[in-house]
Amino acid sequence: MVWALFFKSAQSCRSHSEYGLLCGLTRPYKQVIIRVPSRGDECIWGARRMSVFGNFGGLFSSDMAIDLGTANTLVYVKGKGVVLSEPSVVAYHIKDGVKKVLAVGEDAKLMLGRTPGSIEAIRPMREGVIADFDTAEEMIKHFIRKVHKRSTFSKPKIIVCVPHGATPVEKRAIRQSVLSAGARRAGLIAEPIAAAIGAGMPITDPTGNMVVDIGGGTTEVAVLSLGDIVYARSVRVGGDRMDEAIISYLRRQQNLLVGETTAERIKTSIGTARMPDDGRGTSMHIRGRDLLNGVPKEIEVTQAQIAEALTEPVQQICEAVMAALETTPPDLGADIVDRGVMLTGGGALLGDLDLALREQTGLAVSIADESLNCVALGTGKALEHEKQLRHAIDYDS
Ligand code: ADP
Ligand code: MG
Repeated sequence: MVWALFFKSAQSCRSHSEYGLLCGLTRPYKQVIIRVPSRGDECIWGARRMSVFGNFGGLFSSDMAIDLGTANTLVYVKGKGVVLSEPSVVAYHIKDGVKKVLAVGEDAKLMLGRTPGSIEAIRPMREGVIADFDTAEEMIKHFIRKVHKRSTFSKPKIIVCVPHGATPVEKRAIRQSVLSAGARRAGLIAEPIAAAIGAGMPITDPTGNMVVDIGGGTTEVAVLSLGDIVYARSVRVGGDRMDEAIISYLRRQQNLLVGETTAERIKTSIGTARMPDDGRGTSMHIRGRDLLNGVPKEIEVTQAQIAEALTEPVQQICEAVMAALETTPPDLGADIVDRGVMLTGGGALLGDLDLALREQTGLAVSIADESLNCVALGTGKALEHEKQLRHAIDYDS
């Protein structure tokens, strides 16, 4: 049916360029040779990339937006919303020096810290950028295949968000990974813009908007106006640093060694950025290894202890916001005083972080709805409304 339409259209065209336009060829793509049976002549339609098929593919593919995060990768499919959210982890089985992917995402995260010698669980993203390219590519391929089952005629266009501070080399690597994972086109969007769109901020207005995205590896503080970034700074503090702070606090104060998974569970269960009013708060029981005699032991930890453990990372996040306010042009700064600060990312869910920031900066602070999904939703919106947000999406660098 499709092919009949395809050839019929080809026959009705008077020239190569007319046919090219019909197929939506606006850029030179790979050479395509089409035999038009009724004419019996072979036509070279002057294109260098498989755009003819690419564009037809576009009709049948589900274009996607990907939030390639240090902690979690999310995939948004055009017209459907966020369809996948899994930890950015890949587990390999290693035999005779040959690595084979064993698990990706949720299943691989369960293996972190619990692997025997023959299995290696890797987090390919560190501090917002790709630290292990091959593993990142494996992971992207796996997730794309998971949400996009059709293989022929269906190369999707993919928009990925990248940290504002990503270097040209890092951007090229992300684009390359996405293309070799099967995308027909790869666009990039700056993460603070995506976060602000996802949080529903009016970023195209001529007013200052401040968004603070607290992820696994980094916190990105940005001031946006008229759809673009006026100021952005990325600090290497996020959820991972909080987990490390809890690990080292328990080692120092309780002689207890816990793993990253336990530290993260403590943080998400009772973690708080402010000392509880009663000086103790709630508590939970945790298990780890007693450093004095080497055997497993269970202790009770309180919110007050975790607040103390998290003092430094919380302080660093507050300082990053203060530094942004100091550098923002005064009129935009005045807008931020009126509108307040929007927190996005998983780190925004840390107990009382909004209150701690409000106390330190004197600004109103709100937490975005669906803060863990914000960047993916914003990247997805950019994909859905590409025409209006064209300036923010970079297809070429
Ligand atoms: P990234 O974009 O870097 O992948 P996310 O925005 O997905 O990061 O956030 C993941 C981080 O948020 C992890 O470090 C996770 O531990 C942390 N996180 C998730 N939920 C909570 C919570 N309730 N309290 C504190 N931190 C949380
Ligand atoms: Mg993120």
